[in-house]
Amino acid sequence: MEGNEVNVNGVGNESERATTIGSFIHNIIQEDLKAEVNKIHTRFPPEPNGYLHIGHAKSICLNFGLAKQYGGICNLRMDDTNPTKEDVEFVDSIKEDVQWLGFDWEDRLYFASDYFEALYEYAVKLIKKGKAYVCDLTSEEMRQYRGTLTEAGKESPYRSRSVEENIELFHKMRTGEFADGSRTLRAKVDMSSPNMNMRDPVLYRIARAHHHRTGDAWCIYPMYDYAHPISDALEGITHSICTLEFEDHRPLYDWVVRECEFQIPPRQIEFARLELTNTVMSKRKLKTLVDEGIVDGWDDPRMPTVSGLRRRGYTPEAIRDFADRIGVSKANSMVDVALLEHCIREDLKAKAPGIMGVLRPLKVVITNYPEGQVEMLEVENNPEDPTMGTRQIPFSRVLYIEQEDFMENPPKKYFRLFPGNEVRLRQAYFIKCTDVIKDEDGNVLEIHCTYDPETKSGSGFTGRKVKGTLHWVSAEQAVKAEVRLYDYLMLSDVEKPSEMKMNDHSLEVLTECYLEPMMKDAEAGSTYQFIRHGFFHVDTKDSEKGKPVFNRVVSLRSSYKP
Ligand code: ATP
Ligand code: MG
Repeated sequence: MEGNEVNVNGVGNESERATTIGSFIHNIIQEDLKAEVNKIHTRFPPEPNGYLHIGHAKSICLNFGLAKQYGGICNLRMDDTNPTKEDVEFVDSIKEDVQWLGFDWEDRLYFASDYFEALYEYAVKLIKKGKAYVCDLTSEEMRQYRGTLTEAGKESPYRSRSVEENIELFHKMRTGEFADGSRTLRAKVDMSSPNMNMRDPVLYRIARAHHHRTGDAWCIYPMYDYAHPISDALEGITHSICTLEFEDHRPLYDWVVRECEFQIPPRQIEFARLELTNTVMSKRKLKTLVDEGIVDGWDDPRMPTVSGLRRRGYTPEAIRDFADRIGVSKANSMVDVALLEHCIREDLKAKAPGIMGVLRPLKVVITNYPEGQVEMLEVENNPEDPTMGTRQIPFSRVLYIEQEDFMENPPKKYFRLFPGNEVRLRQAYFIKCTDVIKDEDGNVLEIHCTYDPETKSGSGFTGRKVKGTLHWVSAEQAVKAEVRLYDYLMLSDVEKPSEMKMNDHSLEVLTECYLEPMMKDAEAGSTYQFIRHGFFHVDTKDSEKGKPVFNRVVSLRSSYKP
């Protein structure tokens, strides 16, 4: 459950951080603002083929954050040019997640599919300039013609088609006269370029696929490397920030906006994508976990998706804080997931009221406490924050404590309850164990204790000291609840954190937990600290009125050293 001990990059100390937090992006933007750019304009361009994950959250915080910092604006654009994998379900979830993270695209929600007509016209323009041609090579032939990293490619035999022929063929591609995959539109750049992306890349392919927005209007679809720069330019984006794997595509990005003759072309800047220990990040892999039923949907609280983190009980503040702390760099590195946990702990510490909850109950009978008597004790809601007020909790003859807080034959230095030992019940009295009641097989059924009325919490009692303090709940009034404890979905190899395997024990469901009475009305979506156990969030999907189900957001202890 705790963060692993892997020592990883990306979690530098404060001074290291200050230099890595995207200083290169700030430098570029500040220079551009001095020169031709009046106002910066960024965009977050997800492909609606899955739910957003924490890596996307980093990109969202960066794009919307930069715009805010420099008095600019940021668009949300669905990069929906690959219809077979995309869906409105994903569009809706993306909008919800960006909003929840605290960002506002105002009236600037765009879809690359809205530009299909414009993209077609720009392709015609390229053809007319002799910069694009219709190619009849099959994908297999195209591979052979492309050459290798050490060998120049070979020009397609269709490369020298006339402008007129190209225009006619491209038009026929659009009107559906050719079979899927039988032809492509390619940029005419340089088959001997050392950059493979410049060897006459494909701009359009034929695919009879139903699009979630344009329906069957199109049977040709633009490629990402063509659609993306033009979409950016059409929206007036000044800085097109993307992840490092697109660095080699930048010459093509620049080629497209130049050849299409945009007056103020956008500028692509790459940064390192977020990778986290114990976490799979690719949408494709996350989709497999969902489709194969290994998790309970995209918002399973173990998922690194924004919706999963939300359901787990993460807050937008914690995720934004995390994005700030990891910063932005040019070098790929693996961030310790313990840092993310540190951020949510820091945030919840101040916000979440603390209550007592027993996850694995052991019955305690206080034999000298009057039967039928119930006494109300006043306790603080958050010992760290007196402004959060106080509440009353019942104390009575029968209580529950945590099984692990009692041992019949304790080792040395065990300060909790054992026969003959006295401990403090948090906010209540001292109790001393007098008897252990067992079944025929020797299993402990309940323990008997006596309490000392002199030792009431807050009474100023100083007669003697005890070493252990236990949390507890009064049995009769306690709320029985289900609590779900999570471990990482993936186990990272200690030596090579990027190598991971599935953790078969990532979920533990405890169905017989006893919580303070007020937890009966705990509202879905609210969060509490269970003293000594961590932070718990009332599940928004499975809780019913009067029957809350709790997800553990994070435990209290951390392996992260700030
Ligand atoms: P994945 O590889 O996880 O499926 P993707 O890059 O295909 O993600 P997109 O929808 O294309 O997903 O991404 C939208 C934006 O989010 C892009 O600008 C991309 O660079 C950025 N992004 C995606 N993954 C990460 C990540 N791990 N860290 C930072 N930014 C990311
Ligand atoms: Mg992508």
